[in-house]
Amino acid sequence: MDPDTPAFDSRPFDTALAEAWIRAVAAAVDQEQSRLTELDSAIGDGDHGSNLRRGFTAALAALDGLHPTGPGAVLTKTGTTLISKVGGASGPLYGKAFRAMGAALPEPAAPATVAEALSAGLDAVRLLGKAEPGDKTIVDAWTPALAAFRAAAATGATLAEAAAPAADAAEQGARDTVPLRARKGRASYLGERSIGHQDPGATSTALVFRALADTTTA
Ligand code: ADP
Ligand code: MG
Repeated sequence: MDPDTPAFDSRPFDTALAEAWIRAVAAAVDQEQSRLTELDSAIGDGDHGSNLRRGFTAALAALDGLHPTGPGAVLTKTGTTLISKVGGASGPLYGKAFRAMGAALPEPAAPATVAEALSAGLDAVRLLGKAEPGDKTIVDAWTPALAAFRAAAATGATLAEAAAPAADAAEQGARDTVPLRARKGRASYLGERSIGHQDPGATSTALVFRALADTTTA
């Protein structure tokens, strides 16, 4: 075996997979745009679906002209595009997250390294947004998703075997935002009236993790 070729037990997170992930997120955001908008109309200003659709459509266009040097380059380009094209809070938050994940994945990576990249993504969201778990934000879906991915990766799971429970946990985390009172972002202006609605950002984070699960099994 070529000593310069790293050995992987299963398919690594490589450039093609990174591109497929972003395309799957863009497709999911496109399909779920009206649902995200409805959720954001209830406790925000109704633009979450259109914000993310604009951002990921621009990310796809940016990837078309890119000759990525590794999986991280795809994610970094996506993050930079989200920051420049999305005006709402979610643009910089997801943008910083994708850039942080990109920086953590310069080369094809095994599941344990992908777990650390997902962790760096969550750290970036928390550094910028200062949200704690329970504040009814992106953090409430990403935190349980990361825990599930990391636990699976630690026991030797493949990417697909780690991403599936992570997506389930993200969806559960999004549902669990319903009874919470928002303490960050626009929804926090509603105080008690934010209770009883699912958070749009936690919902889109569940789409991001479901897209990863769908991509790794495909
Ligand atoms: P805006 O609130 O500027 O209209 P969006 O509608 O695109 O932006 O995104 C709203 C989502 O952003 C919220 O549902 C919430 O999940 C997320 N969000 C807002 N502020 C924060 C924060 N400080 N930390 C993490 N997520 C946040
Ligand atoms: Mg909004």
